[in-house]
Amino acid sequence: MSDCLFCRIVAGEIPSTAVHETETTLAFRDINPQAAVHVLVVPKEHHEDVVALGAADPDLLADVVATGAEVARLEGIDGPGYRFVFNTGEHAGRTVFHAHLHVLGGEPLGMFGR
Ligand code: 5GP
Ligand code: ZN
Repeated sequence: MSDCLFCRIVAGEIPSTAVHETETTLAFRDINPQAAVHVLVVPKEHHEDVVALGAADPDLLADVVATGAEVARLEGIDGPGYRFVFNTGEHAGRTVFHAHLHVLGGEPLGMFGR
């Protein structure tokens, strides 16, 4: 998908700060961090959102989650704890339509809210 931002990041056409990479996933820092650590994990293959990804390829969704856990370990936030977020749709403020896992931590996080 040449018009997809995260496909272009995966292809190296748009620069990003990579944190970790596997055969099937890429983890890079969010450009507008919402916590001291804010990393995005994407499947290299394009899927619209987490639900579509899980339906099409459950193993790839498991890879994304495993990469998220590895990112938490590499960033040193696995001890104090962290949050995984998958946004879907307008009410969640979703802006990029390539499935991605937010890994947030590095400081105490606020509760969920509006
Ligand atoms: P969403 O709201 O769709 O779940 O999250 C999209 C995320 O992608 C946002 O947190 C936003 O800051 C991040 N983002 C948008 N454009 C770019 C970009 O060009 N590079 C990086 N590294 N992150 C981006
Ligand atoms: Zn894509």
